[in-house]
Amino acid sequence: MTYDTRVRFQCDLLIDNCKVVMPDLQVEEGLSIAIDQGRILAIGPASQLRKQYDPAARVEGQDKLAMPGFVDAHTHLAQQLLRGGVVDEPPIIWQRILVPFESALTEQELYTGAKLACLQMAKAGITCFADSGTGEMAPVIKAAIETGMRANIARMSRDYGSFIPDRFKDPAPIVIQKTEELYKAFHGAANGRIEIAFSATSLQTTSPELLEGVAAAARQYGTIIHIHLAEHLKEVQQCLTQFGARPVEYLAQHGALGPNLLGAHAIQLSDREICMLAEHGAKPVHCPTSNLGSHGFPKTTTMFALDMQVGMGTDGASLIDLDLFGQMRLLKFAVNARFGLPAFDPFTLPLQTLFKMPTIYSAAALQLQDEVGTLEVGKKADIVLLNWNQPHFHPAQRLFPMLVMVAGPRDVNDVIIDGQVVVKDRRHQLVDEEEVMAKADECLQNILRRASSVQ
Ligand SMILES: [Zn+2]
Repeated sequence: MTYDTRVRFQCDLLIDNCKVVMPDLQVEEGLSIAIDQGRILAIGPASQLRKQYDPAARVEGQDKLAMPGFVDAHTHLAQQLLRGGVVDEPPIIWQRILVPFESALTEQELYTGAKLACLQMAKAGITCFADSGTGEMAPVIKAAIETGMRANIARMSRDYGSFIPDRFKDPAPIVIQKTEELYKAFHGAANGRIEIAFSATSLQTTSPELLEGVAAAARQYGTIIHIHLAEHLKEVQQCLTQFGARPVEYLAQHGALGPNLLGAHAIQLSDREICMLAEHGAKPVHCPTSNLGSHGFPKTTTMFALDMQVGMGTDGASLIDLDLFGQMRLLKFAVNARFGLPAFDPFTLPLQTLFKMPTIYSAAALQLQDEVGTLEVGKKADIVLLNWNQPHFHPAQRLFPMLVMVAGPRDVNDVIIDGQVVVKDRRHQLVDEEEVMAKADECLQNILRRASSVQ
């Protein structure tokens, strides 16, 4: 590309002279990124962009590496105040602990926990998340908007079965109606940062009527369907017993299997079901710690052999840190141990494929692959700058392997979401970090006090 240096253009922000992870996952050095109206306007040699653009603000890129912000494609912001509370607990954790905990939260507690999670996510390089939902999502949306995050929000959807007490369910038409209300109130809010999705929380708690209603509503509004899919054996057994079909077959029978399906976990799948998911362009999302901890081993290599786009999520912070860097590495070594070593194949999950999971593949699971997930001109400016001037990055023969195998949340220096500088020099620019943490601590004490007075 050539530049006419006689003309200088205005832009909102210039990230000046950094290393950049390009869409082909090569890392190029000495580049600048011009940003305007929330989008990437140009990526090019620093010397040329300095002449070309007259930015309103500037972020120093020297000794920093710019990468696309991570997309956490499956999380639960309502569970953030339960940190450390489910480790080494016997199953089934969501039935016994998570659902009652979420249901007991006040709106203020939900908002406080969500805000804490948004603060932590930004500082860990996560710029976008998909929440699979609890009963009240307005406080979560408020927290996402205030903290500058991009989010896809679903609402808890349950209407069926004896697995969950009736007080945690609603009739199918009410479930659909409540998500429709959420869609009308918030879809497209905050310059399009907020999107709403329909969900069937788990097939164990979803009647055929609700599943068909969710599929139809998602088609009508053009949203994704966010679902926990084949997470554990009991779900498969129950699906077979009640509906005479395995989970993916049940989805297909009721019109819910398509490219807009985000299937969180996707663990206990038959080969036939994986082929069905691939044929329909559905998007599995692995949550490595959550999956490997109790539910089973994902058939990740089969999915990639079928050219599927497999996203990645944290599944919330009740069990694990909100750290997609760590989740990538866990999955790489686990997949290698399970599938690579027995076949003498060290290339089971190459770094480039691995890095696509929490970036462009997770973006695709949210139907945002044309907006985020890579750093490209015209896409939304959701950019994470890592501080590369640290001992663990030196010396670096090849930068990309260092990024995937060495970098972590501790290295996140600046974060830009939708063109806005949300984190600068490791400090969140939109919230008082100490206040958010203090309020979260206070909420937990109130929750524990209430719990002890009930016992
Ligand atoms: Zn989940």
